[in-house]
Amino acid sequence: MKFITIDKNTWTNGIDKSRERYQLFGPVNDENGCQIKKLDPDVQPDMEYYESVMSAKSVLFPQTEKILTASLNEADEDHHIMKRAENDYSPRAVIGIRPYDAKAITLVKLNFDTQAFQEPYWCDAYESTVFVGLGITRPGPFDFSTSVGTGPFCEEGLDILLADLDDKYLAKILTPKGDAYAEACGFDATADENEAQALFDILRKEAEKNIASCVTTDKIKEKTILELHQADFWDDLAFSCINCGTCTYVCPTCWCFDIQDEARQKHANRFRNWDTCMSPLFTRHATGHNPRGTKVQRVRQRFMHKLKYFLDKYDQGIMCVGCGRCVKSCPVNIDIREVCNMMNAYEKQD
Ligand code: SF4
Ligand code: SF4
Repeated sequence: MKFITIDKNTWTNGIDKSRERYQLFGPVNDENGCQIKKLDPDVQPDMEYYESVMSAKSVLFPQTEKILTASLNEADEDHHIMKRAENDYSPRAVIGIRPYDAKAITLVKLNFDTQAFQEPYWCDAYESTVFVGLGITRPGPFDFSTSVGTGPFCEEGLDILLADLDDKYLAKILTPKGDAYAEACGFDATADENEAQALFDILRKEAEKNIASCVTTDKIKEKTILELHQADFWDDLAFSCINCGTCTYVCPTCWCFDIQDEARQKHANRFRNWDTCMSPLFTRHATGHNPRGTKVQRVRQRFMHKLKYFLDKYDQGIMCVGCGRCVKSCPVNIDIREVCNMMNAYEKQD
């Protein structure tokens, strides 16, 4: 394993140097709080940020993405034939991504990149991206990442993990992609491996000590879907939900989408847009029938998908990395930690 140190006086120059070969994304403060966005040429990633409102999922899965395009001009030989839209998949780097958000990308990958099918837009974006993580030294009050298989210094899904040591960064290079990015920045001051790893271990333990929140998931797998489906708490839980969808948009592991076609003059485009299982329209069929027409069905679906169906299907834990965004953002205080613990503790009544 390779470690390097990066003097903060050389950081900005290094990041700027990497722009010759990479498009950069990173934390930026705007009027809506901190977001992970594409960085304009004169903008540096805000490495002092505390939490981002949205995760980095839009780097691979934009809120709106043109996926197909067609000419409607009958004079064109290929009119009315849908073709893949041209998107830019040149190398990109996400600087300062939080470890739980990188882990979330590995969970989303289970859905978009399977043996049977590779979703081309997501997979091409994934292949072109290097993830430069920033360890969390001050976990937020809603963070329960350590109880769901990730944590403030988790390395899964990252190519480089950075630790902030005030006047410098200590970087753990985790993959060849990460090595290539460090080289593009000109960061090459090698650190002693044993000392560097010991420092990472200390920082990780210190940060983990500050995570007070947790969930328990060990008994969910042994319960049947039907048992949990019929549990008595869904009505109470759904009562206050206003189906705003906020919890799904802020979630780094949610991937529901909708397809929209737009035709203008002699041209047509097909777009993929984020959607939410909390919306009644998401499942309404063309016939008008809606298999999840009631609020309680939709609320149950969200939690069953994250905490039961995903767990059963992939055997990789629950579909949640414990970032706490949905807990913090829900306007009516619906809390996935409570739901998870209720599902785990649920015993069927005879
Ligand atoms: S954020 Fe809260 S109110 Fe909005 S859809 Fe999610 S659970 Fe319901
Ligand atoms: S379900 Fe909530 S806590 Fe879990 S990853 Fe999504 S937003 Fe974060």
